[in-house]
Amino acid sequence: MPWFRADLHLHSCLSPCGDLECSPSAIAVTAKQRGLDLVALADHNSALNCPAFAEACRREGVAALYGIEATSREEVHLLCLFATVEQALDAGELFYRALADVQNIPAKLGDQVYVDVDENILGAVEKHLVGALDYSVDEICEAVNSRGGLFIPAHIDRSVNSMGSQLGFLPHAPYAAVEVTRSPCPLDTHDYTRICNSDAHFLDDIAMRWFAYEAETVSFAALRDALAAKRVRLSIES
Ligand SMILES: [Zn+2]
Ligand SMILES: [Zn+2]
Repeated sequence: MPWFRADLHLHSCLSPCGDLECSPSAIAVTAKQRGLDLVALADHNSALNCPAFAEACRREGVAALYGIEATSREEVHLLCLFATVEQALDAGELFYRALADVQNIPAKLGDQVYVDVDENILGAVEKHLVGALDYSVDEICEAVNSRGGLFIPAHIDRSVNSMGSQLGFLPHAPYAAVEVTRSPCPLDTHDYTRICNSDAHFLDDIAMRWFAYEAETVSFAALRDALAAKRVRLSIES
């Protein structure tokens, strides 16, 4: 079976901490250049750039997933990845309603724009997206799994906004995988499949970390099976 290269944690110009150059189309072009087979957009608490990302990835011939990096009430970052744009937008609406009502100040906190595939600005999100949702880790996990998505705690070994920093341990729960940024991981990940992604906020950082999975096809279902069977290799371990 072939191996596919994936980077499933990318931010666009919708994330206030993301570079304005990171349009969905520029991300797709860069992903193609760097030899990625599967990419996922995961902006903070919003999926509004996923429609443009879908079109851009189709143009480039790169397979895509559509997601959100949700922030739980415990301030833990969580990757929520879906097979379709519609599923991501649906989860995104749910999350945005539960997001702390703090207005974004672009000049101070960064731009939060959503665009079309040709980089025309369609609008700006009003609430500051780097805030916490009024949902626990478990509630977000349930919302993602019940929508058929992949729930993956993000950068669990980081010193901020991680399972490690906020909870101090990794609970036993139905996670599709856990994301690490280094090896070995200081937390006990024995029960889980580990993956690593770039968490790129700038085009240059795309594929800085990636993982490969062994599957018949590049599809969402095949990825899910490969994760469940731990058929993965991490760039940080090769
Ligand atoms: Zn994060
Ligand atoms: Zn991130």
